[in-house]
Amino acid sequence: MTFSVPGLAVARGIAIGRAVLVGSSRVEVAHYFVEPHQIEDEIERVRRGRNAVVEELQRLQGEMPQDAPPELTALLDVHLMLLQDEMLTSGVKHWITERLYNAEWALTTQLEVIGRQFDEMEDDYLRERKADLEQVVDRILRHMKGVAHPVAPPASSPRRKTQQDLLLDDTVDVPLVLVAHDLSPADLLQFKKSVFAGFVTDVGGKTSHTAIVARSMDIPAVVGARSASQLVRQDDWVIIDGDAGVMIVDPSPIILAEYGFRQRQIELERERLARLRHTPAVTVDGQKVDLLANIEMPGDAVTAVAAGAVGVGLFRTEFLFMGRLGNLPDEEEQYHAYREAVEGMQGLPVTIRTIDIGADKPLDKAHKDDSLNPALGLRAIRWSLADPAMFRTQLRAVMRAAAHGQVNILFPMLAHPSEITQTLAQVRLARAELDARGAVHGPARLGAMIEVPAAALMVRHFLRHFDFLSIGTNDLIQYTLAIDRADESVAHLYDPMHPAVLRLVADVIAECRAQGKGVSVCGEAAGDLAMTRLLLGLGLRSFSMHPAQILAIKQEVLRADTRKLSVWARTVLDDEGAETRAAI
Ligand code: PEP
Ligand code: MG
Repeated sequence: MTFSVPGLAVARGIAIGRAVLVGSSRVEVAHYFVEPHQIEDEIERVRRGRNAVVEELQRLQGEMPQDAPPELTALLDVHLMLLQDEMLTSGVKHWITERLYNAEWALTTQLEVIGRQFDEMEDDYLRERKADLEQVVDRILRHMKGVAHPVAPPASSPRRKTQQDLLLDDTVDVPLVLVAHDLSPADLLQFKKSVFAGFVTDVGGKTSHTAIVARSMDIPAVVGARSASQLVRQDDWVIIDGDAGVMIVDPSPIILAEYGFRQRQIELERERLARLRHTPAVTVDGQKVDLLANIEMPGDAVTAVAAGAVGVGLFRTEFLFMGRLGNLPDEEEQYHAYREAVEGMQGLPVTIRTIDIGADKPLDKAHKDDSLNPALGLRAIRWSLADPAMFRTQLRAVMRAAAHGQVNILFPMLAHPSEITQTLAQVRLARAELDARGAVHGPARLGAMIEVPAAALMVRHFLRHFDFLSIGTNDLIQYTLAIDRADESVAHLYDPMHPAVLRLVADVIAECRAQGKGVSVCGEAAGDLAMTRLLLGLGLRSFSMHPAQILAIKQEVLRADTRKLSVWARTVLDDEGAETRAAI
């Protein structure tokens, strides 16, 4: 029976496919597709992992002291029984053979399937055995973790199917849609290398980093869909409507036909916009506007150039560090990554932001910051200044990459004058270290993010020290309005048009312009069509956004007349009533 699950629209478009429920395993799991000739190897990897756990448990049983509580022995028996369970093994084989899932993914998928059956059991004792099953699977996964993954995930996407195909076809080659309770930005980055047509999560806000990565992947996504992962079953047909922010489960043929039609419309619109790729972004009244790209990985530079970006306005370098706890990239590795991005931009400028780890971007999913208010904790520049040696390693790598093209260095979340002083001292020290070593390095302009109200309020002080500023509206809104950007329960209060936010943004832009210094917006507002005209009216001429949004924003710029918009923007600023703002 068809039903829909509402959530928040975070990445536009329509996806139609089979649901893939991402298991709730506590072990970090890679998700990728294997080649048909690797099926046997994958099955063998699971078998070896399982056998290792069986041996481990049997050894534990053998070493159990005489006076051990009987419950413990019984528990080990249950675990051993679950390990031999035919449903687990045959199910895992099914996902590997029929869907070409890698071994770990197959295992967590089957865990999800069996877990559902446990949930539905009447008997309390049996229902609670789900936790045992989870523990058993976790043990297998941990054993498998040391086993090398035989292949890299395929780069290509499966052919998009028409809705007729979807109705008739039941084979492997169908689009897959991820459904999960939560996905960390690092998880999504994993999936970025894989093949998914869209995703839905139970939690998350519009500008959570997971949503940002989804937009950069240019796949339809809905977050904050509360109980989506409970309502959908593995392999259900689902539609993700990334424009309306809704997931439709088990759609009827009529609904499928309607969405198939909308999918084609979107495709046509994309083709139309693609014609603007080489058109300079100039307003009706001749104002040149820079449309830059936000990237997460060096390889994204190619996408940025292809989308017609005139540079990278924000390279979120923390993505190079995620999932690497205990093995953080050293100077050499970072240098090569930054150099790849710089060379990928073919002479266009690249703004490299120093690491912004913390809050909803933990270094490692398993070591989430459990402080009470992680967004107010050791995050971004605070994290870097707490470990100056690590900070300078990054600075040296960026400065060396600057020898290969135009590089700007951007510092996140500065709020205190003392942080500015310390940051600049580290920059000088890093350069001196390179000089002392005789290492080749290039010049870099220095910029600060304005993403804390304190920074916006002391913009003049910032401008005494920096060559340019970049407004991070995602955090500026979060910190100005005290709304957790990743919390769907307060998402309705997260308002880029709030008069206080607009006032801060307007003042920063005006001061930079008055002093002839560069200013851009690199938060999600820069790629939000609803904000383009207002930002242009406030005097903004540099927007940095995920590449997929550049052409749509360019179309808006080409239609804009900043003379009219600046008059109108002043009235918006003076007007504190939401009703009038909505009427504009
Ligand atoms: C911002 O806060 O607007 C920003 C661009 O930084 P991030 O989204 O990475 O926190
Ligand atoms: Mg930020």
